[in-house]
Amino acid sequence: MSTRVEAPTHAQARPPRSAEEFVRAVERDGIEFVLAMFVNVDGRPCCKLVPAAAVPRLLADGVGFAGHAVGSIGQSPADPDVVAVPDVTSYSVLPWRTGLAVVQCDPHVNGAPWPYAPRVILRRALAELAGRGMVLKVGAEPEYFLLRRTADGGIAVADPEDTGPRPCYDARGLGRSLDHVAEVSRALGRLGWGNYSNDHEDAHGQFEHNFDYADALVTADRVVLFRYLVQMLARDAGLIASFMPKPFGHLTGSGLHLHLSLWGTGGEELFLDEGDARGLGVSALGYAFIGGVLAHAPGVVGFTCPTVNSYKRLGARGDTASGSSWAPTYATYGGNNRTQLLRVPAPGRVEARCVDSSANPYLATAALLAAGLDGVDRSADPGPPNEADLEAAAAQPSSGAPLPATLAEAAEAVRRDAVLRAAFGKAGEGEFVDFYARSKHEEFAEYHRAVGGWEVDRYLTTL
Ligand code: GLU
Ligand code: MG
Repeated sequence: MSTRVEAPTHAQARPPRSAEEFVRAVERDGIEFVLAMFVNVDGRPCCKLVPAAAVPRLLADGVGFAGHAVGSIGQSPADPDVVAVPDVTSYSVLPWRTGLAVVQCDPHVNGAPWPYAPRVILRRALAELAGRGMVLKVGAEPEYFLLRRTADGGIAVADPEDTGPRPCYDARGLGRSLDHVAEVSRALGRLGWGNYSNDHEDAHGQFEHNFDYADALVTADRVVLFRYLVQMLARDAGLIASFMPKPFGHLTGSGLHLHLSLWGTGGEELFLDEGDARGLGVSALGYAFIGGVLAHAPGVVGFTCPTVNSYKRLGARGDTASGSSWAPTYATYGGNNRTQLLRVPAPGRVEARCVDSSANPYLATAALLAAGLDGVDRSADPGPPNEADLEAAAAQPSSGAPLPATLAEAAEAVRRDAVLRAAFGKAGEGEFVDFYARSKHEEFAEYHRAVGGWEVDRYLTTL
């Protein structure tokens, strides 16, 4: 029996601003259970199911977790509880089951925000930004693959007819997967995120859903919830939604492009300058931010492309079935040019195309912000926009360093970046970037120890 919500699309009511409003919202919405959720450093969502009757206790005391069991969050089995403290403003009624809501939480240990927790890190960075009289707004473009298991335990694109040479925007491809795409769109409508488009992306089985930009923390929470929502909906249909950046070597990978803009606390768009001599509609502050992100690109990429698999998407250039990877290779920026790491698609905002679908949205946003602000502090000049097609095999920009080729290179760049080191701050006895770089080196080493089919094919009898 389905417990799907069949309510019409509508925006949710204004989010609660206090514990009392939260309790009233739970009653008003007929909520039976609240998921108290947070992510670890790998971006894996963890939660406990809290019955409505226990919500006052959740709000007063938070809810405890054995931190080591959460995975990467800087805890040993001997450490005290991680207590998830709900951020009441993130309350959302979940659109795929009746009576279910979610609240994102800030992990605390011994009564203090836990410095390894991604949401705590971004929250702190945004509070510092507010202290400088600025607000960061972010729009996210999540992409993913809709897949199914094959009889032999492998994976295949969910739609067996999705084999054409130009799958992007293909009306027949979208039509065949309409049940899924419309279900996700309806869910986003019920969440009130301002879903304005949904498309078949450039790879077979790949989709993207777009919703309005918002304050950086709100968007990061939405990315976490979006992934969960799409995975749950796909699973209900017997399918797999995968946010692995490059499940198929020969197809375009999945990005999580982030559109960034800094605003004044009075609502002034600080990246906007219609009189920009370079013609992109970007202010001096916006260019300095761009210069900062480009200068720190190798370390930033360590956060925006955080898996071994990420580096099979990055730098792939036109070497895919569709003829384009749409992913950057160099630390460059341009106008409305999708081969650049940073694109200025419209006056007043900058799109970071170096973020992939596996990124932890809190850490990726914090890294981009720290790098950009360093540029602002140094009045960095990124030079003229790059106009080349950087996916062309021979293209090499005159300026703009190549991006890390592997997770190991990126982890090393994180470790060496003094600005990221200062921005991510202390964690336990050491510093967060060292903890992070170490865990990424270990991830790479584990991958590297495994001998794969390619090596056997290439070397077994040829040497
Ligand atoms: N899927 C591409 C990527 O990995 C992006 C395609 C697009 O421009 O939307 O970044
Ligand atoms: Mg896209």
